[in-house]
Amino acid sequence: MSRAEQRVHDLVGIGFGPSNLALAIALREQAAGSGTPVDAVFLEKQPAFGWHRGMLIEGTTMQVSFLKDLVTMRNPSSEFGFLNYLQDKGRLVDFINHKTMFPSRVEFHDYLEWAAAPFADQVRYGSEVVAVTPVTVDGHVEYLDVVARQDGGSGELSTYRTRNLVVAAGLEPVLPEGVPNGDRIWHSEDLLRRLPTLEDPRRVLVVGAGQSAAEVVDHLHTTFPAAEVCAVFARYGYTPADDSPFANRIFDPGAVDHFYAAGDDVKELLRAYHQSTNYSVVDMDLIEELYRRHYQERVQGVERLRLLNASRLTDVTAHEGGVKATVRFLPTGEEQVLDADVLVYATGYRPTDPLTLLGATGEHCVRRDDGRVTLGRDYRAVTDATLRCGIYVQGASEHTHGITSTLLSNTAIRAGEIAASLTNGRHNAYALSN
Ligand SMILES: Cc1cc2nc3c(=O)[nH]c(=O)nc-3n(C[C@H](O)[C@H](O)[C@H](O)COP(=O)(O)OP(=O)(O)OC[C@H]3O[C@@H](n4cnc5c(N)ncnc54)[C@H](O)[C@@H]3O)c2cc1C
Repeated sequence: MSRAEQRVHDLVGIGFGPSNLALAIALREQAAGSGTPVDAVFLEKQPAFGWHRGMLIEGTTMQVSFLKDLVTMRNPSSEFGFLNYLQDKGRLVDFINHKTMFPSRVEFHDYLEWAAAPFADQVRYGSEVVAVTPVTVDGHVEYLDVVARQDGGSGELSTYRTRNLVVAAGLEPVLPEGVPNGDRIWHSEDLLRRLPTLEDPRRVLVVGAGQSAAEVVDHLHTTFPAAEVCAVFARYGYTPADDSPFANRIFDPGAVDHFYAAGDDVKELLRAYHQSTNYSVVDMDLIEELYRRHYQERVQGVERLRLLNASRLTDVTAHEGGVKATVRFLPTGEEQVLDADVLVYATGYRPTDPLTLLGATGEHCVRRDDGRVTLGRDYRAVTDATLRCGIYVQGASEHTHGITSTLLSNTAIRAGEIAASLTNGRHNAYALSN
């Protein structure tokens, strides 16, 4: 059954993670200054606000300073800042005594939920966007109909008509080609949801050498004191994340300007130089803790934490009782077969391709040679002349705006830039209901 809303929104947002939450805040603050509210609605497939809930492992910390919250970089006096959250929760003094710039992920999640709560009337939770249909009037696409399925698949379809769209659908997990997610083979994003199904495992395998992989290894090793935890990765060892101050500048708002202006060869150069700020790297503290534990076990002669480095899985078979995995040690080609209760792939994520969600509407977007959407500096997709709607992309812009695209570092600034583009630009599609 389909229910078409008659109302035309100024803006529909796909997803309500930190990116679109930051945008909702920026629009509200902007409207408070200008007196012109924006009629925006956000469609979120989760039943309630959630930020990578499956990886909210106790003890894990943020990889950005709390000052890179949803607002501070754009508006330090915003009521939606992390410090105001602490004050509201009665923990400001305790946090200061903590002397950390990097709160736990559990606390940051609580902050995000706190910030999202006042926007509940603008968010339709349990609404998964399944199509975006262009609505043509006199030869021009004047509106977009955003179709959402309610309650995870079983529910009815609702349609939201809009002049502008912001796609902020986040990341999707990456599994090796042909590997099915199942009862015995998980992606790390599901870790905490799946873990209660695992009883007294004897052995678990974790594939990957990035932050998530190391966190999963650490968590499984401490959660199951009788289990052997095998970390499998092709590197020789875990490599530290570069969070040094000069390298950190790659996440600055100014670096986004530089990256955007650069040619593709320079973009590739910068991306390659600064991979180690984010990709397949681990916080030094965690590396040292895992090494300490591994060494201690060797001293004690009971090696539960096994590092299968310079290694790859060459064969994996899941069966009712577990997984059989063949591990090849790359330098010699020697193989061993391991039986395990579960195999966790901590093999990362990729940004959700906006074109997949846009469907027929995507045909109006100008593509680059590599097939990706061409984005303006204001994150607005470049479109053909027949489309008069604004389509903005948050997240899937690493090819144009740089490494910070999928991260929180520049979220506050980016939200402000998009809010300004939507209102100040007032391109012909943006009538703001006036
Ligand atoms: C475990 C983990 C830890 C991280 N820690 C950090 C960190 O410490 N620092 C940092 O800078 N970055 C971190 N990141 C990177 C992460 O991308 C950002 O923190 C942040 O989540 C980006 O926000 P977002 O709103 O763009 O995407 P997301 O947080 O992924 O939100 C996207 C939302 O869109 C929804 N959605 C997707 N498709 C649809 C659809 N079709 N219809 C409706 N809704 C949809 C999703 O349910 C989701 O809620 C981490 C990532 C992971 C996986």
